[in-house]
Amino acid sequence: MIYCVGRNYASHAKELGNAVPQAPIIFFKPPASIVESGVTISLPSFSQNVQFEVELAVKLDRNLLPTEVCVANDLTARDKQKEAQDTKTPWGLAKGFKQSCGLGNWVSTQDIKLDNLQLRLTHNGKLAQNGFTKDMIFPVPVIIEYLKKCFPVQPGDIILTGTPEGVGTLKPGDEILAELVGLSSGQWTFQ
Ligand code: MG
Repeated sequence: MIYCVGRNYASHAKELGNAVPQAPIIFFKPPASIVESGVTISLPSFSQNVQFEVELAVKLDRNLLPTEVCVANDLTARDKQKEAQDTKTPWGLAKGFKQSCGLGNWVSTQDIKLDNLQLRLTHNGKLAQNGFTKDMIFPVPVIIEYLKKCFPVQPGDIILTGTPEGVGTLKPGDEILAELVGLSSGQWTFQ
């Protein structure tokens, strides 16, 4: 399973005009939506506003503790998400479509402090997102405890932990480079 956290940085909640949540907002992506770095992603035809979101991704070990991390791109059909919010319906289409979960190279969490990492995304060579995991509203251990309380969390599950501010719209021909600075990177082009 891929568990995802929405609005986990106050700066991003603010840029979309959303309130800061009182508990983690959880949604899901299908494991088959994962795309490795280097893949060309087909933007879904049902959306006119697909946006990138750079995030820290965490993989859980047999004790449901973080074992590896990578950079993620939580691709989002923002117009469909807005429709869902307006009609109080789920985010499935907005978040779980084909090729919607970009993941960079995994690295061991050994010697890494999860609350001291930098996220960066360049869009067509221009810096769009630059954030720090210390600014998460719900840090990784809190997210994991919450998930374990509510969901059938299993070893190998992946958590996308939310995006900082600076999300932007993609069009055919665009290229993004997402980085967990110094540790993991992913590069995707769009058609
Ligand atoms: Mg996100």
